[in-house]
Amino acid sequence: MFKHKKNLITFLSILLIVGFLLTSLASYFISLASLRDQMTHGELPLTSDTVYSEIQRDLLRPIFISSLMASDTFLRDWVINEEQNHDAVIRYLTEIKQTYNTITSFFVSDQTRNYYHPDGLVKQVQEAEERDSWYFRVQKMSDDFEINVDIDQANNDTMTVFINYRVHDYKGNFIGATGVGLAVDAVQKLIDQYQETYNRDIFLIDRLGNIKLSNTSDKQRQQQTAQLNIFLKSKEFLTQMTSTETVALQSKIDGHPISLNTRFIKEFDWYLVVIQSELEGTAKLLQTLLINLLFCAVVTTIILFIINRVISSYQEDIEHMATTDKLTGLYNRQALDLLVNPILLDQSRKPENLSLLLLDIDHFKEINDTYGHLAGDAVLKNLARLITSRLRKTDIICRWGGEEFLMLLKGCTLDTASNMAEELRLAVINNPTSSQNQTLPITVSIGVAQYQPEDTRDKLIGKADRALYQAKANGRNRVVSA
Ligand code: GH3
Ligand code: MG
Ligand code: MG
Repeated sequence: MFKHKKNLITFLSILLIVGFLLTSLASYFISLASLRDQMTHGELPLTSDTVYSEIQRDLLRPIFISSLMASDTFLRDWVINEEQNHDAVIRYLTEIKQTYNTITSFFVSDQTRNYYHPDGLVKQVQEAEERDSWYFRVQKMSDDFEINVDIDQANNDTMTVFINYRVHDYKGNFIGATGVGLAVDAVQKLIDQYQETYNRDIFLIDRLGNIKLSNTSDKQRQQQTAQLNIFLKSKEFLTQMTSTETVALQSKIDGHPISLNTRFIKEFDWYLVVIQSELEGTAKLLQTLLINLLFCAVVTTIILFIINRVISSYQEDIEHMATTDKLTGLYNRQALDLLVNPILLDQSRKPENLSLLLLDIDHFKEINDTYGHLAGDAVLKNLARLITSRLRKTDIICRWGGEEFLMLLKGCTLDTASNMAEELRLAVINNPTSSQNQTLPITVSIGVAQYQPEDTRDKLIGKADRALYQAKANGRNRVVSA
C-alpha cells in the first residue's frame, strides 16, 4: 500500500493530526456548550434569586417598622386631637429614624395635608404636584401599604425605597400615611459585591428598559447599557420579559457570546438583570484547547519520529540483506549494479585509472566433493576474509557467483592490478583454510582488465572474464591480463 516511506509518514501525519484535531475541537465545543448552558440556566438564575431574596429580606424590617407606626396610638391620637403640638410628632419621627436607623421617616396628615419629617413640617402635599402623586395613590389604595422607589425631596433627592403605610382612626377612617424610607445603598452594595466576586453585571431596570440602579462606575454603566440594548432589540426578550417572571437568554456582543437572566421584582416594579460575558470562561477553555493541541503536536512529532526511525532501521536491515552475501558478508551481485554505475558515471566526468579482477577458485567442485559442502563454505569465507584484508577500503569486493569474486580497484592501471592479483594468488596458496582439523589448500585463477573510456560495465566484465577463461585454459593458478 505504501511503497515509499514518505507516503506512509504523510498518511500517518494526516491521520494523527486530523484525529487529534477532531477530538480536541469536539471536547472544546462540548465544554463550551455546557459552559453556556450552565451559565444561562444555572449560575445566572442563582445569582438573581440570591439578589432578589436579599432585597426582599432587606425590605421586611422597614415594612414592620412602618406597620408599627401606622398602628401607634400616640400618632393616631395626636391626629385625632387636631395635630396640636408639631414638636411632639417631629420628636416621634426623629426617635423612629434614630432607633431603627432608617434614612427617613414621615407622616402625612389627610386632614391638613401636612408632610411631617424629623426635620420639621416640610410642606403640604398637593394633588396637582407630580411628586406628591404617591400620597393620593396611597389614599385610594385598598392594600395596607405599598413599596415605592422614588427620590426623597426632603433628603437631597436621593434614591429611596419608601414604605407607605395607611393610617386609620379607631373607626377605620383613613387619616394619613406614614412610613420610613431606606437607602438603596444596601441593594447597591450587594450588586457591587456580586459584580466583583462573579465578574457579572447586575442592575435593575424599569419596564421601559431604563437602568435604575447599577454599579456606580460610568464606564461600566455604558457597557451595561450596550449589553442591555442588544437584548432590548430582541422581540423574544421583550415578550418573555413581560409574560414570565424570569427570562434566560443568550446573545452576542462584538462577536462575543453573552448570557442574560432577568427577574421581575414586583415590590419595585423593576426587573433585576444579570448579564455575564462568556469571555472569561471561554478564555480558560481556549487555553485548555491550545494546551491540548500543543500536547497533540508534541505527541504526533514523537510518534512520527519513532515510526520514521523504526522504518529507517528496518529499511537499512532489508537493504543490507538485499545487497550482502550471507555466507561471506561481501556485496552480492545486486549490490554491484548499484555500486558500479555511479563509479562509471564518475569516469565520464573525471577519468581515472580503474581495473577489475575476476577471481575463480580452481577445481572447487572437487573440494566440495572430497571434504563436503561445509568445508567448501569455510574455504569461501576464508578467501573472502583474505581478499578483504589485502585490498583497500575504497576497493569494491563482490561475490560474483558461487566461487567467483569480482574486485574493482580504483586508481589502478592494468599493471598495478596484475601485480596485486599476483600477490593475491600467492597469498591464497600461503593461507590455506583449516577446517575440522584438515588443511584445505586451493589455488585461484584471476582475469585482469582495465577500464577504457568506451567501456560499458558489461564490456569491462567481459574483458576480465575472457582473461579468466584464458587463465583457466592456460592451466589455472595464474593471472592473465586482458
Ligand atoms: P574450475 O576450475 O573450472 O572453476 O572448476 P570448478 O570445480 O571450480 O568449477 P565448477 O563451476 O564446475 O564448480 C563450481 C562449484 O562451486 C560447484 C558448486 O557446487 C560450488 N559452489 C558454488 N557455490 C557454493 C557455495 O556457496 N558453497 C559451496 N560449498 N560450494 C559452492
Ligand atoms: Mg566458476
Ligand atoms: Mg572454479
